Amino acid sequence: MTDQPELNDTDLDAVREKYRVERDKRLEGSSRAVVVPDFTGPGAEYLVDPYQPVVEREPVNDEVDVVIVGAGFGGLLFGANLRDEGMQRIRLIDTAGDVGGVWYWNRYPGAMCDVESLIYMPLLEELGYVPKDRYAKAAEILAHAKKLAKHYGLYDDALFHTAVTELRWDDEEGHWLVTTNRGDQIRALHVLVAPGPLNRLRLPDLPGLDSFKGRVFHTSRWDYSYTGGDSESELTGLRDKAVGIVGTGATGLQCVPQVAKYAKQLYVFQRTPSTVAVRDNRPIDPEWVKSQQPGWQARRQDNFTDVLAGVPVDEDLVHDSWTDLYNHLLYDPAFAELSPDAAAKLREIADFNQMESVRSRIATEVADPQTAEALKPYYAYTCKRPGFHDEYLASFNRPNVTLVDTQGQGLEAAYRDGVIVNGEKYELDCLILATGFSTETAGRGMLGYEVVGRDGLTLNEKWAGGLSTLHGIATSRFPNFFLMPGNYSQSAGTVNLMHAMQHHAKQVAYIIGEATRRGARVVEVDPEAEAAWVQTILDKAPDRKEFLAACTPGRDNYEGANTRPAQNALYGGTPREYFEILEKWRQAGDLAGFRLS
Ligand code: NAP
Repeated sequence: MTDQPELNDTDLDAVREKYRVERDKRLEGSSRAVVVPDFTGPGAEYLVDPYQPVVEREPVNDEVDVVIVGAGFGGLLFGANLRDEGMQRIRLIDTAGDVGGVWYWNRYPGAMCDVESLIYMPLLEELGYVPKDRYAKAAEILAHAKKLAKHYGLYDDALFHTAVTELRWDDEEGHWLVTTNRGDQIRALHVLVAPGPLNRLRLPDLPGLDSFKGRVFHTSRWDYSYTGGDSESELTGLRDKAVGIVGTGATGLQCVPQVAKYAKQLYVFQRTPSTVAVRDNRPIDPEWVKSQQPGWQARRQDNFTDVLAGVPVDEDLVHDSWTDLYNHLLYDPAFAELSPDAAAKLREIADFNQMESVRSRIATEVADPQTAEALKPYYAYTCKRPGFHDEYLASFNRPNVTLVDTQGQGLEAAYRDGVIVNGEKYELDCLILATGFSTETAGRGMLGYEVVGRDGLTLNEKWAGGLSTLHGIATSRFPNFFLMPGNYSQSAGTVNLMHAMQHHAKQVAYIIGEATRRGARVVEVDPEAEAAWVQTILDKAPDRKEFLAACTPGRDNYEGANTRPAQNALYGGTPREYFEILEKWRQAGDLAGFRLS
């Protein structure tokens, strides 16, 4: 077992009390309200595409086999797997100007993947591509998405810069009617939605923001015409500018060091500090990749997912800060030999020690003790998504960079020349919102449009009391309709979302392919099979209420409100168990739980 320094009950109580005090500061925070703009309506200006102009086109009125809403990797994987099933007319629809989804939008300086590119970037073997670096930069990942779309012929019928406004099932005709903000009326036999968990951007509800005379934008709409440069070059436009960045999550960690290098003055407005573990990026040796046996990517993905789920492996193939964290923090094999209470206590101690090492890294890297102290996170490690960076902390040693610790409160207000925090005015030319994305995980809040199934039933109405699906990918009374599950969605939960998405895409393509081979036009979940899966989710859901309630507010505990219905959970077994359920189901070949007509 990892050596854990002694921590007695009194020490642990003191740690818990410190964490509680820090959490409460944030719970009482004044600026928790957020705005999630739609493409039509208040805040729509924050959604304008700064990368590619919208080209006028005539509305489309036609019929296709499949519409896929969302052309990020989820939609692309749906498309690739459907092509393998022989599907002809596939139409991708996306609000972006091209494929790539989250990687189309998030081009902020310093943007990169925080899961190893060899397991994150899908279909590397199929496309014969070797990523340049262990953690790929955003531009390389976007280029890979485009390559994938070309390889599988997914550009042919695609509609970009197009927001779906409604999906409606027409029972008489036996197809979906897809309407969009470009006046399109598309009939589709099947509709697949792949919204991604980070599709709906979140803005702070900041009084006075309208009166601010400077430039404001969200990190997922980076305005390079203002800042100069691109995601990897000099931001020359900021040399004479005072810039504020709000938000210090994974995005803030990556863009702060870049802006710090070029802005005349940078204020980083912090509400809760992130953990910042070692990144250790380095080039990938293409020869090493060539030396691997076919199937290496799937094996590496399985290995990573197993390590993070606590499944014993012969060798930790990825061996990075993620696997190190999970190996030491959550799944020390010795925990299994202890009583649940003793194991829980040791985990808490291990967590504390891990957080202490995070805090001591800050003290080593940040010269000013007051700034260093303010950057230290006081909560359990897995309360928030862990952060990784090797330049973020040192950015605060630059004379032009100031950390503004809002003590859990966020910004108070904006005014004509800047923002007000803790009663103090900060003059700014530019305010950058690294404030993340909506945490909605179901229905309209997640998709941004209404889905109307049989007899006028909407997805919102159906899921008002909680999610209800078979395997997270389909739901009864919504025929020929499939979802790419995201977080909290009755499916597998992996840090490497791409891994799970590959399995989901394969499953959905198989169902559509097999139903077609059997001559069926309509395939729909049987309510009894759906109820049984919901019960499985409930039975297997780990009870994390107490842990999450003690956490600082964040995505995982619904900003501290913790109001998610119990069934809106991930499958409680390991991700690989879930993948095996799908695989065995396909092998049985009887489309169990679906009705064909
Ligand atoms: P995030 O993790 O939700 O962080 C948002 C930040 O904005 C937090 O620091 C939050 O403070 C702050 N904030 C939100 N509302 C605020 C307000 N009203 N006033 C002041 N501060 C406010 O968003 P993100 O950093 O964009 O990351 C989102 C997700 O994207 C991550 O969980 C990760 O999965 C993914 N991501 C991945 C990568 C990658 O490398 N692959 C990179 C970037 C993002 P609090 O902490 O106090 O709430």
